Amino acid sequence: MAEKKNAPDVREQLFYEQKNGYDLIDTTERLAVEAYGEDYKAFLDEAKTEREAVREAVRQAEGRGFKPFTPGMELKAGDRVYCVNRGKSLLLAVIGSRSLAEGATVAAAHIDSPRLDLKQVPLYEDTELAYFKTHYYGGIKKYQWVTIPLELHGVVALKNGEVVEVVIGKDPEDPCFVINDLLPHLAKDQMQKKPDELIPGERLNLLIGSQPYADEGKERVKLAVMSILNDRYGITEEDFLSAELEVVPGFQARDVGLDRSMIGGYGHDDRVCAYAELRAIMDVEDPQTTAVCILADKEEIGSMGTSGMRSAAFDTFMADLCAAEGVELRRCLERSLCVSADVCVAFDPNFPEVSEKRNSARMNYGLGIAKYTGSRGKGDSNDADAETVAKMRRFFAERNVVWQMTELGKVDQGGGGTVALYMADRNISTIDAGVPVLSMHAPWEVVGKLDCWMTYKGVKAAYELN
Ligand code: MN
Ligand code: MN
Repeated sequence: MAEKKNAPDVREQLFYEQKNGYDLIDTTERLAVEAYGEDYKAFLDEAKTEREAVREAVRQAEGRGFKPFTPGMELKAGDRVYCVNRGKSLLLAVIGSRSLAEGATVAAAHIDSPRLDLKQVPLYEDTELAYFKTHYYGGIKKYQWVTIPLELHGVVALKNGEVVEVVIGKDPEDPCFVINDLLPHLAKDQMQKKPDELIPGERLNLLIGSQPYADEGKERVKLAVMSILNDRYGITEEDFLSAELEVVPGFQARDVGLDRSMIGGYGHDDRVCAYAELRAIMDVEDPQTTAVCILADKEEIGSMGTSGMRSAAFDTFMADLCAAEGVELRRCLERSLCVSADVCVAFDPNFPEVSEKRNSARMNYGLGIAKYTGSRGKGDSNDADAETVAKMRRFFAERNVVWQMTELGKVDQGGGGTVALYMADRNISTIDAGVPVLSMHAPWEVVGKLDCWMTYKGVKAAYELN
C-alpha cells in the first residue's frame, strides 16, 4: 500500500482532470470570446471558397501592415510580408529578431472545404428545366446537399487571359440554387438504398432555371440561362471549359443556442483554424522567432497540387526568407516548430458509439491537441514527439490557453488526417491542433466560441514563446 499523503487535495495533485473552459475564464475573457466570435463570423461570410479566403485574409493583413513579398527583398526584424500562391493559398511571415538558422514557428491551416464543383461541360436542359452538372470535392455525405439553398462562387478564365469572378447568391437580392430530392410519397425504393446510394453523384444536379427563351428554337431554357450569364458576366458556354465554379451552401454564419455559445456555418473545417492563425500572426509583435502562417488549399482531397501543402511553394517561400539571411533552408526547417491547425471531432452525445470518451475533444474544453491522427495503426499520421507535446503544454500553461488532448474517434472506427504529416516530412517538428467541430463536413457545421478563441490564443502563444 502506498504511503498516505497528508495533503487534503491529493487527488488534485495527482490526477489529470479536464475542466469546462467557461469555469476557467473570467468575465473579461468571456467578452473577448464573444467579440472574437463576431469577427470570425464576418470572416467566414466573406470566405466561402479558398480564393475568397485568400483575398479576405490579404485585405485584413494589408490593413495590419503586411506587404507583398518579392524574392531578394531586404528583410529586418519586425517586417511583415505575404505571398499569394495562384490566388488559392497564402503565406505570411513576421520576421523575428533571431536568425532563421534557429528555426521558424510555422502555423498551417487549410482554406478549402467540402463542396460541389461544376463539371467542365456543366450546362444542360432536361424536360424544360436547366441544370448544372457537378462533381463533389472532398468527403461529403451526398444526401446532405439536397434541398438546401446553394450559391455559386468562383472564376471563369477566358481564352484571352482575363479572369471573370462569379458570385451568385451571396447578395440577399440574388437568387440561389438547389438540388432536388424525391418526395417521401414516392421514395419507397429510394429509402431501401444504402445512405451513400440515396443520392448518386450524378444526381447532384443543380437546378438553375425554368423559363424558356422567347423564340421557337431548341433548348430554350438552356438558352435563357446562358443568355443571363452572358449579360451578367460576358461568358459563353465554351468558357466553362476553363472555369472553377464552386457550389457552396447559401447559409450565413449564425449564433447557435439560446446562450449564443456556438457558431453554425459553412466551412469551419478549416477556416476556423485559418482565421485563428491569421489573427495570431496579425497580432504578434516583434517575435523572437520568425512567425510563418500558411493558408493552404486542396487539403480535403489530399493536399496535392501547386496550391496544396505538398507543393514546393512553401519551401520556396521559406528558402527565400532564409536566403535573405544567408541561412540554409534545411538548417532552418530542422529547428522549426509547426502547429498544424485543423479541426478535430467534438464528442457528440447523439453518437457516443464512435468515440472513446476519455480521449475525445469536448465542446468548450478548448483547443484540441492531437498527438497523432491517422487511422487503424496510426496509418498516415504525423505522430508528434513527446518533447514537442511537452513544449506546447509549457506554452499553453504560460498563456492560460484552455486545451485538451484528443484523437479522432475509436481506434477501429475510421480516422483521418491533416496537413501535419507533410510538414513533418520536411523535418519540421509538427503537432496537430484545432477547434472541435460537430457535424464536420456537413453543409453547416457547429463550433464552440470558446474553442475558437482558445485556438487563436494557442497559436499566438506558440508564435510568441517558441
Ligand atoms: Mn480539415
Ligand atoms: Mn476536412
